[in-house]
Amino acid sequence: MPELPEVETTRRGLAPHLVGRRITGVTLRRPDLRWPIPREIKKLLPQQEILAVRRRAKYLLLDIEPGSALLHLGMSGMLRVLPASTPVGAHDHVDMVLDSGRVLRFTDPRRFGCLLWQASGTTHELLAGLGPEPLTDDFDGHYLYELSRKRKAPVKTFLMDQGIVVGVGNIYAAEALFRAGIAPTRLAGTVSRERYGRLAQAVKDILAHAIRRGGTTLRDFLNADGAPGYFEQELFVYGREGEPCKTCGRRLRGDRLGNRATAWCGHCQR
Ligand SMILES: [Zn+2]
Repeated sequence: MPELPEVETTRRGLAPHLVGRRITGVTLRRPDLRWPIPREIKKLLPQQEILAVRRRAKYLLLDIEPGSALLHLGMSGMLRVLPASTPVGAHDHVDMVLDSGRVLRFTDPRRFGCLLWQASGTTHELLAGLGPEPLTDDFDGHYLYELSRKRKAPVKTFLMDQGIVVGVGNIYAAEALFRAGIAPTRLAGTVSRERYGRLAQAVKDILAHAIRRGGTTLRDFLNADGAPGYFEQELFVYGREGEPCKTCGRRLRGDRLGNRATAWCGHCQR
């Protein structure tokens, strides 16, 4: 599943091919993805210039004057800029034809992705109530500390709550907690301000690293294949239950938290 770094990498790869381009047509090969595609997409996008490509949480927003096309990649979605003559495959559901002779093509075999519409001056309900972006100054140790008081949830579940902070998926939560030395099972309300400072910094460092990695694999976005930003050999705990801790050598513990597989070191993380 694409996580925040892959979505940000996608955004950075797409933007130079889209911003300033005019959309000459929209082809919808089915009426819905995860949800019905609103009629505004077909009606309002043609002849509009793309003003910006933005990201909020794991959503991409293509800004035009009347509003934004809101895209989510779901489990298996992929966005590519291709020559307009590229043959259409079975899972190529949407094309936005550009005045550059290329198309922005949305491919999604499992159709958990979506294409929605947000009118200018409004916030789509899916974006309302989201916490801050992890890579902005709004997200830091003080913020986590203040919000976590009296919280009974495990700190990992708290960190993955999109209302607290967006885009910290299972891999990144597990790795950040290891780096900060905090056991994922510890109750969020019992973590000190200082330790939340370390955790917030670990989240930022790990996401920024993954975005840079994604960037380096993206030499030519026209051939991008959605390679994930994080390499398996860089993981300290995610997916490594029962294997030795890379720091102390002890066997990593494993459990399910909030219905997500979780591994951690009982010695390095308290
Ligand atoms: Zn250890």
